[in-house]
Amino acid sequence: NVDPGTMNPYQHGEVFVTEDGAETDLDLGHYERFLNVKMHRHNNTTTGQIYDEVINQERQGKFLGKTVQVIPHITNAIKERIRRVAPGKDVVITEIGGTVGDIESLPFLEAIRQFKIDCGTGNVLYVHVTLIPYLKSSEELKTKPTQHSVGKLREIGIEPDLLVCRTERPLDLPMREKMALFCNVPVKQIIAAPDVSTIYEVPLKFAEQGVDQILLSILRLRSPSGKKDGLADWRKMVQAIKFPKRKVSIAIAGKYIELKDSYKSLIEALIHGGIEQEAHVDIHYLDVSHPDLWDQLKNVSGILVPGGFGDRGIEGKIAVVKYAREHKIPFLGICLGMQCAVIETARNLCGMTGAHSTEFNPKTRYPVIDLIPEQRKLKNLGGTMRLGAYPCRLSAGSRARAIYRRESVNERHRHRYELNNIYRKKLESAGLKVTGIYTKGKLAEIVELKDHPWFVAVQFHPELQSTPLYPHPLFSSFVRASMEHSS
Ligand code: GLN
Repeated sequence: NVDPGTMNPYQHGEVFVTEDGAETDLDLGHYERFLNVKMHRHNNTTTGQIYDEVINQERQGKFLGKTVQVIPHITNAIKERIRRVAPGKDVVITEIGGTVGDIESLPFLEAIRQFKIDCGTGNVLYVHVTLIPYLKSSEELKTKPTQHSVGKLREIGIEPDLLVCRTERPLDLPMREKMALFCNVPVKQIIAAPDVSTIYEVPLKFAEQGVDQILLSILRLRSPSGKKDGLADWRKMVQAIKFPKRKVSIAIAGKYIELKDSYKSLIEALIHGGIEQEAHVDIHYLDVSHPDLWDQLKNVSGILVPGGFGDRGIEGKIAVVKYAREHKIPFLGICLGMQCAVIETARNLCGMTGAHSTEFNPKTRYPVIDLIPEQRKLKNLGGTMRLGAYPCRLSAGSRARAIYRRESVNERHRHRYELNNIYRKKLESAGLKVTGIYTKGKLAEIVELKDHPWFVAVQFHPELQSTPLYPHPLFSSFVRASMEHSS
């Protein structure tokens, strides 16, 4: 695949959208959350893109009649991708997906092997992430798979400097010594990555083992002076997540199995939303097609309808919005969730029976959610999405303005359909106010319901910008409102 945009999220996890509108995989979300650095189009490279680029160059005659080969043409293209993101940076982290030994990743491994020769020793280091399985029946950790994968790497000319060992049990010294011996890696460079209760604890576990010092010394870098503990804020945040003082239950409309990885950023953003309040957000996955839906909603203090494609469960989601509105339960709608809120208002407050999105009912009498005319002209589904960051102006006096404390924000999008402006006045007079607008395109970005403790729905994906050190204000506010509701 050239990008994951057309891939099934149940197979590959969420599609993470960068600020510049690239559809990438969920790993980039982890990098943004851990590093507080914004990723862009060029931070993600797929085999599809590399081959596409090389074949295009060949067609344009750029290789002057030479035979195009994996080495050097594909490997050069890969190395060029690594260099492309380097300007202005001290260190480039390049993660090669897949498993050592995969046929698919061979050209990538060959490229990073060459990279060390190109850049010189001391400018490149290799970290091998490896699984140390635990055998319950014999109660032991096994290092054999690691010995073999390191062997495979050395066969192709890569000697790992660090082994990061995923384990569910502590890695004792004799184990480390054995691995050091068989894998040709110094003992102190065998790093345990044990299971932890929150993923945000991982950097702390690495720091305990001196990983930062090892990296600095191999790369011959000095850490910025004057900073005693660069992880102090991080430590505080992990503490708040691990030892929460309160608990709040929030329901998400969608099944657990569908949601776990396909809504990774959303679930993380909810966790971030609880940090300031030192609250643990207990997530309930609502099966909207199940007859006991109302029982499932009984004990929740907040309701979230997330983004999605396809009409499965759409009526259930609309019913959940109605429940949140009528029972005055804090409600956050995201993308499809906002569209559901608009449909619900149209049907139940504006008397537009059968109102719908033309995505789900192209013949509806009241197309309150629809494609904009420019999009309708395009035939190819791939190119019609609104992707990446767009500015959004917030109306004075609105809840959104109070939450963000700014006049204008940038938020990321990934959708085709929009609130149909023909119905805006009617929706507003029923109490659903448009409080955020992309002024250039006159598109509604945020709606809020009057006379409700907290009802905000957005056309964009705020979860993509939330990080544990800088939780997204919408999520913090939503979690706070949910806690107030519960008390
Ligand atoms: N399916 C809707 C659209 O394309 C919503 C997409 C989403 O929730 N990301 O507009």
